[in-house]
Amino acid sequence: MNIFVINSGSSSIKYQLFRWPAEQPVCSGLVERVGSEQATISHKVFAEGVPTEQRLTLPLPDHEAGLHKVVHLLTDGVIQDPSDIDVVGHRVVHGGESFSQATPITPEVKAEIQRLFGLAPLHNPANYLGIEVAERVFPRARQVAVFDTAFHQTLPEKAFRYALPTALYTEQRIRRYGFHGTSHQYVAAQAAAYLGQPDARLITIHLGNGCSMAAVRGGQSLDTSMGFSPLAGLVMGTRSGDVDPSILLHLTGPLGYSPEQVNTLLNKESGMLGLAGSNDMRDISQALAAGDAAAQLAYDIYAYRIRQYIGAYAAVLNGLDAIIFTAGVGENDALVRQLVCQDIDFFGLVLAEAQNQQRQPGLRDLSAPGSRAKILVVPTNEELEIAQQCAALFASAS
Ligand code: ADP
Repeated sequence: MNIFVINSGSSSIKYQLFRWPAEQPVCSGLVERVGSEQATISHKVFAEGVPTEQRLTLPLPDHEAGLHKVVHLLTDGVIQDPSDIDVVGHRVVHGGESFSQATPITPEVKAEIQRLFGLAPLHNPANYLGIEVAERVFPRARQVAVFDTAFHQTLPEKAFRYALPTALYTEQRIRRYGFHGTSHQYVAAQAAAYLGQPDARLITIHLGNGCSMAAVRGGQSLDTSMGFSPLAGLVMGTRSGDVDPSILLHLTGPLGYSPEQVNTLLNKESGMLGLAGSNDMRDISQALAAGDAAAQLAYDIYAYRIRQYIGAYAAVLNGLDAIIFTAGVGENDALVRQLVCQDIDFFGLVLAEAQNQQRQPGLRDLSAPGSRAKILVVPTNEELEIAQQCAALFASAS
């Protein structure tokens, strides 16, 4: 079975092709600057694990042109014909309360994804466009939507409701949804398998450009740090994470900000960028090494917020078997892990400092001997998780 995974953004298309059941992709790629004269495609083909990469710059007026070009690249040795693709798995950011698992796409499902545009105005329209284009480019394939919010649909109401008037939930659907679900689900499953404990109490810590945490027990999400939108919770690359809501009133009132300016401020100019002048941890860690006080403070605030959520989620779980670091920062930044795990042995967490500094691929156990709970690094793989969910869907249907 050929499973093609697509993550369609407003001006980009990320893709991977899996020849199921092999878990290694046959090829992967990224189309960027869709809609411009100078769009780029980087296309990697893995032959026995060794990648060969092709880079192209070309005009691509829209997503349809982009996906057609990708099909050209695929038919140059990877598949014979677009009809060789059996399943297309689409990452869709917002599934609202309608979708709690991978879902075969029907006209009703598409209408529901459209209805959710209001909740995810930046993401769902681009994801939807990817579905429409893929339906035309791969007419024989079964199309499946895998939602970023789906994994968190198990949150109990006490965790997903805000203390706002009830009508705002019942009529306007204002509640915590949570995001990055595919990643939290994937790393939690990997960790539980490593521990040999299907009912493990886990705290998953996804630290990429966007950052979020989840409390997971027995493979179910019980709480998560992102909320109604991905703006809540942890300090991120350019997003503020949690702030006192009355700061927004102060900004739009006495300080004269427009709603648009507040939106830009909180989503694009805050977080590590606002504190330390860069949204890339590699730059900030260099600045820190050069003695930059703002970089030190930014790291401290970033790690402190994660520690607060560890405390909260250990309470939610009434115990802790492991914390799991994942995504760009979580997998690579030893200093973040060190700051998070300093003086936190009350929760049974003791970091093996030397192992923490080493770089190795794959799942890593960084707990010191005597650490009651494990400290793990699990590389995330959202595309593989999407392919797995698509495969499981058709295995159970047949
Ligand atoms: P996304 O959320 O876009 O999927 P990633 O998981 O790829 O993001 O994470 C991207 C971030 O990871 C970068 O902005 C950078 O801050 C961080 N990062 C990547 N590599 C390293 C590294 N070697 N050391 C520290 N941080 C890194």
